[in-house]
Amino acid sequence: MTLTTEREQIRKAVNKIDKALAKLRAKIIPYCAELKIIQDNCQHPETIKKYGGSTGNYDKSEDCFWVDYTCVDCDKKWTDYK
Ligand SMILES: [Zn+2]
Repeated sequence: MTLTTEREQIRKAVNKIDKALAKLRAKIIPYCAELKIIQDNCQHPETIKKYGGSTGNYDKSEDCFWVDYTCVDCDKKWTDYK
């Protein structure tokens, strides 16, 4: 198989994936909108917290810390940087 043929096959496969993703995204848009309404109305009473940090930088002022939250009720995910 020549390099050009191999690249063409890869390009065709990528195009096929792009088309399938576009089709799927078009289908889920209404559900994403509905999920956002649910998440916007949730008070997030119980969350799972995952603490993260980037330390050991040469310049200590570059060190940072954050918390990743996931609401167990509505599955909203967000990050707070400290
Ligand atoms: Zn929630």
